[in-house]
Amino acid sequence: MAPDPAPRFDPDLDEVVDRLKDHLHYARLMGVRDVAAAPRPVSRPKDPPSARSASRALVSADPTPATRSLPLAPRNRHPDPVAALARLKDETIGDCQRCTLAPTRTHIVFGVGNPRADLVFVGEAPGADEDTQGIPFVGKAGQLLTKIIEAMGLHRDNVYIANIIKCRPPGNRNPQPDEIAACEPFLIEQLDIIGPRVICALGTFSAQTLLKTKDPISRLRGRWHAYQGIKLMPTFHPAYLLRNPGEKKAVWEDMQQVMGELGLSEPQKKPAPRH
Ligand code: URA
Repeated sequence: MAPDPAPRFDPDLDEVVDRLKDHLHYARLMGVRDVAAAPRPVSRPKDPPSARSASRALVSADPTPATRSLPLAPRNRHPDPVAALARLKDETIGDCQRCTLAPTRTHIVFGVGNPRADLVFVGEAPGADEDTQGIPFVGKAGQLLTKIIEAMGLHRDNVYIANIIKCRPPGNRNPQPDEIAACEPFLIEQLDIIGPRVICALGTFSAQTLLKTKDPISRLRGRWHAYQGIKLMPTFHPAYLLRNPGEKKAVWEDMQQVMGELGLSEPQKKPAPRH
């Protein structure tokens, strides 16, 4: 019998696959984390999949409860995070008009820092200074965040800083659910590209949004949570610290846990000059 002919390149099939990829990419940006792989439920694997690969694959097993303690997956490094972040910023987000914040913003505040950062800080939303400059955390609260980062022996360039939403809500009001729904997929994509070892959620709004919980920050802070297989430490927002300086000690304790996880030691204090 003649051997089977070699499989032939099928342009129609290729096009279907390309379209499916586009569709799934869009669905993921819109926050869809799971799609059915078969019309009937399929049996789930006994071994839990690595949380990170589950978050990358669109067909995943059980969603990960935010606070379940899990063996965290090894980091799955993006091959070119600089280009991927640039594409997300310039092509996907572009001159975003997806929510009602667009007409009142000056700049979209995408995020700054090291595209391969081990540590990502996630705040709430840009304020007036951030809106003017297009850079997150540059106002008074931002200056305090910078001091915290430096007290950890780091520099802003070593970490990545972003917000849950990328445009300033007028008068610094709380972001609305439809604004979060429109913007959160971009943060999800950003975090997926950067692949940090630790996320620090700054304040109630950030922690509640990332962890999908209504628990107050006072209950969430100070202990580890998991976000898509990444360790997440919630702590008080620097703006709250400006109003409640007595809580700085608690934030420093949280940051020491973060430093411990990242293998960082406190910078040596310079000895006072002798006269
Ligand atoms: N507060 C935030 O949550 N984000 C900023 O970028 C600035 C202030």
